[in-house]
Amino acid sequence: MNPSRAFVLLKPDCSGTDRRAAVDAAVAAEGLVVACRHPVSLTPADVRFLWSEYTEDGHVLMHAFLGRYLCTAPSEVLLLRGPDAFAAARRIKRAIRSRYANGPFANLIHAAEHPGELARQANHLLGHCPECAAPFVSSEPLTSPPRPAGRDFRGETDLPALVESLWPALQSVDPSAPVPYCLDRSPVAAVYLGADRAHTLDSAVTALWSALPGITLAHAVLLTLYAGRVGGCPVAVGSHEAVSRSHRVLQAHGITTCGVGPAPS
Ligand SMILES: [Zn+2]
Repeated sequence: MNPSRAFVLLKPDCSGTDRRAAVDAAVAAEGLVVACRHPVSLTPADVRFLWSEYTEDGHVLMHAFLGRYLCTAPSEVLLLRGPDAFAAARRIKRAIRSRYANGPFANLIHAAEHPGELARQANHLLGHCPECAAPFVSSEPLTSPPRPAGRDFRGETDLPALVESLWPALQSVDPSAPVPYCLDRSPVAAVYLGADRAHTLDSAVTALWSALPGITLAHAVLLTLYAGRVGGCPVAVGSHEAVSRSHRVLQAHGITTCGVGPAPS
């Protein structure tokens, strides 16, 4: 394997904390060296450029949460050098997240998943000094294809206020299960939602919000994130008819990790 370069981005919940030591240890364990470190204060424009799979109108929830997560405190970018640095950086990301992450908005560290993404993001984040000035190149497409989109909730909801109200719960090490939404007065059956990696926060929340008439957006976000974090949970209870109807709407939105069962006791 050739010596090569990659980067990791230490997010605000890592960059100013003693978790940096765990990252340094993981870098050393992979046989890589930190060639360069730069503090970086990400702006919403940076976030849009770095995660181009999330669009302006189709991922308004993701952008609202990422803005709160990444744009309110400094991050740090580390240029790494060593054998097979791209794959090693991904392993470092997985190792740190598996130990410390508390969901998608408390996951400490980013590394590119594709060589094209690595080139685009590294060229945006690095180049602040001679050590990291050499551009990254990739024969793969530099932009990531858009991911499944959701409804544009901006016209009807104050999204920054929504994010602030949910933020403490999303940072919790051991979050409590949100109560399932009540579809009617006969809670004998339940709709279950599992983690669905084919969907985004926006597409999954939009599906849930459409399938559970009357649910608040905040409740739909909490249920979606909790299902993603623990692998699955009941999201609504009601009569067999109401539960079947909601299940069909979820399926019509392309959600495959959902099902119907008895209400939790
Ligand atoms: Zn540098």
